[in-house]
Amino acid sequence: MQKHTDFAEFIEITPTARIDPARHGWRAKCLQRLIRLDLPVPRTAALPCDTVRAIAAGQLPDVNRLAALFDGVLVSIRPSPANPAWGGPGTVLNVGMNADKHAEFTREQGAAFADAIYLGFVQSYAIHVARLDPDMFTAEPSAAALAAALAAYEAEMDEEFPQSRAQQLTEVMRSMARAWEGTTARLLREAKGAPADAALGLVVQEMAQAMGPALSGRGKIQMIEGVTGAPQITGRFRGLNPANRKAEETLYLVKDRRGHSLEEAAPEVFAELQKHCLTCRARLREEMQVEFALENGALKVIDAVTVPRSSRAAVRVAVTLANDGIISRDDAILRVEPRALSELLHYQVDPRVPRDRIVTGIAASPGGASGRIVFSAADAQASAARDERCILVRRETAPEDIRGMHAAVAIVTERGGMTSHAAVIARGLGLPCIVGASDISISLRDKTLTAKGGRVFREGDVITVDGTSGEVLAGQAEMLEPALDKWFTTLLHWADNVRDIGVRANADTPDDARTARMFEAEGIGLCRTEHMFFDEDRLTVMREMIFADTAKDRKVALDRLLPMQRADFTALFDIMAGLPVCIRLFDPPLHEFLPHDREGMRELAEALDRPLSEVMRRVEALSEFNPMLGMRGVRIGVTVPEIYEMQARAIFEATVEASKRGAAVVPEVMIPLVSAKREVELVKTRIDAVAAAVRNATGAEFDYRLGVMVETPRAALRAGEIAQHAAFLSFGTNDLTQMTYGLSRDDAGRFMSDYVQKGVYPEDPFHVLDEDGVGELLLIGSARGRQIRQDVTLSVCGEHGGNPASIAFCRRSGFDYVSCSPFRVPVARLAAAQFAL
Ligand code: PEP
Ligand code: MG
Repeated sequence: MQKHTDFAEFIEITPTARIDPARHGWRAKCLQRLIRLDLPVPRTAALPCDTVRAIAAGQLPDVNRLAALFDGVLVSIRPSPANPAWGGPGTVLNVGMNADKHAEFTREQGAAFADAIYLGFVQSYAIHVARLDPDMFTAEPSAAALAAALAAYEAEMDEEFPQSRAQQLTEVMRSMARAWEGTTARLLREAKGAPADAALGLVVQEMAQAMGPALSGRGKIQMIEGVTGAPQITGRFRGLNPANRKAEETLYLVKDRRGHSLEEAAPEVFAELQKHCLTCRARLREEMQVEFALENGALKVIDAVTVPRSSRAAVRVAVTLANDGIISRDDAILRVEPRALSELLHYQVDPRVPRDRIVTGIAASPGGASGRIVFSAADAQASAARDERCILVRRETAPEDIRGMHAAVAIVTERGGMTSHAAVIARGLGLPCIVGASDISISLRDKTLTAKGGRVFREGDVITVDGTSGEVLAGQAEMLEPALDKWFTTLLHWADNVRDIGVRANADTPDDARTARMFEAEGIGLCRTEHMFFDEDRLTVMREMIFADTAKDRKVALDRLLPMQRADFTALFDIMAGLPVCIRLFDPPLHEFLPHDREGMRELAEALDRPLSEVMRRVEALSEFNPMLGMRGVRIGVTVPEIYEMQARAIFEATVEASKRGAAVVPEVMIPLVSAKREVELVKTRIDAVAAAVRNATGAEFDYRLGVMVETPRAALRAGEIAQHAAFLSFGTNDLTQMTYGLSRDDAGRFMSDYVQKGVYPEDPFHVLDEDGVGELLLIGSARGRQIRQDVTLSVCGEHGGNPASIAFCRRSGFDYVSCSPFRVPVARLAAAQFAL
């Protein structure tokens, strides 16, 4: 049996009514604020969430009291969830419209007006409440269209269009309450952060009718432009112009060359509207979009919402409001979503233009770029040499693709996840990148990319990568420019003043270092030196070094690499001008530097003047079943110590050189993939000896700090004894996540979305730090390290260093700094400040 809900619960919104945003929703609260500001808001009532929930569950509302409050007038019903971002069912206007009202309006305002209102209501009731097909109704209002719509309703529903106000109110509320509970609506709002039990309130308001001999109509107005945030009166007004009463027309708000404007037609109304916007700005402390109606020349404010805005506008509005003394700087910092900042650092696909989507993958690096498809790194370089913008499309990328990646304007891979090679490199380079686009198939032989529905794209076809949304689009798209403007810089300086955890950048090359400085990183937290060996001239020398049979031959090759590395480090020190630079000694498995195909091996045999068979044998000997757990990191340092010695020498000589010119450099030297204290001891002894030798040879004094990368679970567990020899511990959470889960960084992308969808992992742990597991190792490692050495510097330099939730964890855990890709530095600076407030 259906019960009647007690509608004593609904409440008229007056200045003193008890309106609670948690119970009645944000719209009800906002309308109350407008009423308190003396804005001309029509009579409004709020229906609390529990009542709406009861209606959705099948209880029938008793609407008599509500109907009595709005006796004789039409009403609108609007959604009022606790947070405006959660959306809600569409507003239904003119509830209460029926044949009697139609006759009354026809008498008072003419048939055209009456027909238009009745037809509009019949249509929206039929579509939203009775769930009839929208195609059944014609759009142009006329007496015939109205009659047809009423007849169509009756035919489909087997009953007359409801005439009772109570029935209309009941049914509209019920349909809105149920729409809120629907699966799609639920998923959409949960994606915006709504809790599973988010509730809906409703707002019922007397309709302001756009009628009468004086100017009448409806519109919206805001004082800023929503994409840039610049001051500019923006909006529209649609109504009956007294100068031309026949047709409803759209008037511009402001007088300019385009045609009729509200400013000319009703200057006093226009002035009043601006005043209301400014009142809202000052008193609600926000840029508001005001929705209004003109009822026979009289202004009514129906609703107001915060101006919908792009990220760049959000920054400008927050800073401007703080500069105007309307909000505090702290509030300004809190008002901008850190992740949104990364949008400002890149070109963006203009969100306003239509999209022709080919595939959606994992949005691995933000920004937008258009270019011609290429399928190999070599073709990307050739394309760049012709000055042609290209997009590198690969199954996945490997270190040997690095030059091709530099040459491309964006990268798409079929495989991979957030920390796959393509993703990490692209974020470092600031290139838009989509990985794990598993719905495409690539044929390297035909040089084609085939999308799921069979659509084929060839080499040379133009596509667009939207690395912010993860969409690959066909053709060229309109772009918005990056916006590193004064508002952006100001907001980040305010953030720097309040945050209490450092932010450095992961930077491997002088270009990266310059980007890091531009984004005001406090130093380099990770320089992956292996990225310096992939340039053409170095690769051959590197390969010679790998192929050397004797220590003497190896030294010859290393002696050639030494000046190159010294120049690399000198450049980094010069650019960073005294800020700390943490250089990680060589990490990857040696085979990554060797060719993989026969053609490459033949070329190498030629370059080294050795027989092909020998090259093939050596490549075979160096290949490993599980290279990520094989001969890499400090294991190379222990077994082939000359490489680390060369690097240490290059670092110290660069230190001496750069210190002569500028600020004193105190380099940080970091040992990767440590799992035992003895590894550190062995490497440290040799590096100390190199430092002493360089001091002797140059006669210069310098300090350096030696530290350890904690990226194996054992290193975290044994951090106490390791810290005896380490001035700093930097947690490499990429490898640490990989090893803690036993989950390959490069292969996890294939099933990660399944895993996240099925709730096995709450998030991709390569993206958001797994606080429960990997996080516990961080806590154990940091506590044990600090117990032995109180002043040990603690940091995270894995990809998590740029993720706001992970930054919060590091801060809570007493870490000194995080280090992330240069393009994520601004995000990290702002997020860190928000956590400190
Ligand atoms: C890590 O493992 O977290 C790290 C920063 O090193 P890489 O990504 O180079 O392995
Ligand atoms: Mg690592």
